[in-house]
Amino acid sequence: PLPVLAVVGRPNVGKSTLVNRILGRREAVVEDTPGVTRDRVTYAAEWSGTDFTLVDTGGWEVDVAGMESKVAEQAEVAIDLADAVVFVVDAQVGATATDERVVELLRRSGKPVILCANKVDGPSGEADAAALWALGLGEPMPVSALHGRGLGDMLDAVLEVL
Ligand code: GDP
Ligand code: MG
Repeated sequence: PLPVLAVVGRPNVGKSTLVNRILGRREAVVEDTPGVTRDRVTYAAEWSGTDFTLVDTGGWEVDVAGMESKVAEQAEVAIDLADAVVFVVDAQVGATATDERVVELLRRSGKPVILCANKVDGPSGEADAAALWALGLGEPMPVSALHGRGLGDMLDAVLEVL
């Protein structure tokens, strides 16, 4: 079986946009407003000659009470099934309480984690990415899923742990 890479993070951080970038096609549904209910979606992906299974996560309601728990629940299942995890944070927003919940799950899982500091669309966003060192997950990889910036470096880091 191919190694499994799960993309987790709270709604609207750009997970599906990132998945589409990795796939090189628009297959994952990108939503401008979070909260659309969907299940985990699995894709066949390849980078630098390595084939792997890529899992996009979603499917929670943000407007209901207990949103943090729902995000954490979804993330937990995806993390369990994965060999490695890309944890996506919106670098423009910075780390939120919900992000911290997922960090706890990631730590407990013992799975290798690549920290994707997304929405770093240009050089001025690098400082936002660097601030995410504070999450304690190692080097934040600055990425713009929207434009493809930093994607190659991040995926190279993924392949080292997958
Ligand atoms: P998901 O809920 O985590 O899957 O997030 P989506 O992929 O649906 O994206 C949510 C919103 O963020 C959409 O409006 C995207 O266009 C936007 N977005 C995603 N990646 C980037 C990025 O790198 N830069 C910017 N500026 N916006 C992004
Ligand atoms: Mg999505």
